[in-house]
Amino acid sequence: MKNFLITGGCGFIGSHFVKALIKNGHFVVNLDKMTYAADFKNVAEIENNKNYRFIKGDICSQDLVYSILQDFSIDAIINFAAESHVDNSIKFADVFIKTNIEGVFSMLQASLQYYKKLSDKKKDNFRFVHISTDEVFGSLNEADKPFDEASSYRPNSPYSASKAASDHLVRAWHETYKLPTIITNCSNNFGENQHQEKLIPTVIRSALQDKKIPIYGNGKNIRDWIYVGDHCFGIELALSKGKIGESYCFGGECEVRNIDIANKICEILDELKPRKDGTSYKKQIEFVEDRKGHDYRYAISNSKAKKNLGFKVSKSFEDRLTQTVKFYIS
Ligand code: NAD
Repeated sequence: MKNFLITGGCGFIGSHFVKALIKNGHFVVNLDKMTYAADFKNVAEIENNKNYRFIKGDICSQDLVYSILQDFSIDAIINFAAESHVDNSIKFADVFIKTNIEGVFSMLQASLQYYKKLSDKKKDNFRFVHISTDEVFGSLNEADKPFDEASSYRPNSPYSASKAASDHLVRAWHETYKLPTIITNCSNNFGENQHQEKLIPTVIRSALQDKKIPIYGNGKNIRDWIYVGDHCFGIELALSKGKIGESYCFGGECEVRNIDIANKICEILDELKPRKDGTSYKKQIEFVEDRKGHDYRYAISNSKAKKNLGFKVSKSFEDRLTQTVKFYIS
């Protein structure tokens, strides 16, 4: 049993990770500011577990993070807390700079202060794992090789730029101060309890509410999709087997155009919950004005994670998408 500090554990991915840790018998402190993206329902099934504590607070508070590390004798921090929606970053960049950059800086400082006082044995086991995105690498053309751990950072949106900045800080705190850090860069996640603002929940909700299903531009933008549980499995592997100071890329081996995702979801819904008039949900799809600076293609290789960590994707994209659609229907 280890003591974990999970930040952003009431958000989409963090809540899946918190529940997996509790299931495996670990002790978890969940520090979350409870922004619009958080939901207590995401962790309802474990909220009364004796190994779970929730603390409402901001990762920008170095004192708070430090006192949690000390009070709960934390063995590892996994940082999921972030502003995570690209569209919001285009309109309101300030909060992205604050949480995604200053917040990570304050966590690194608090962790270093704590780490320096640990016994040698505790030092050996301590980890600071920072959860990041493939978007830090920018955009690919059709013929480009997928991103990997050696790809250059070329962020294009305020969101990806803020995540890129935080990755650099984490790397620097390892290189300069020897804080035992690991960075993970992952592709687009999907699954249960994702915030309704993201693509897959938006398509499902709009379809079921008989509204237009909005797709940016011409719908040809490509993303790699990974089921959230597989991402969490990868993070657990990076934590237990990853090499300090390194980064690991996780992708779902599944590149899909946005329009194809929308069509696929409509086909699943046509099967599971047909429209009353018998026509396909596809007729609700409408192209809308493209996102500013919309990256064309993300693709990410998980070869290093497969080879060095034993990572693998558990089920097909179609199976996981059907499972996800069923969740939102219910
Ligand atoms: P989310 O938006 O669903 O959840 C973020 C959580 O962080 C929320 O619970 C929110 O309240 C909390 N939070 C925000 N600011 C905070 C602050 N200042 N202090 C404490 N808590 C704060 O995000 P998500 O989709 O679960 O993503 C989690 C992490 O994974 C993010 O760092 C994101 O960049 C990264 N990531 C996400 C994806 C994806 O497809 N969702 C892909 C790759 C990487």
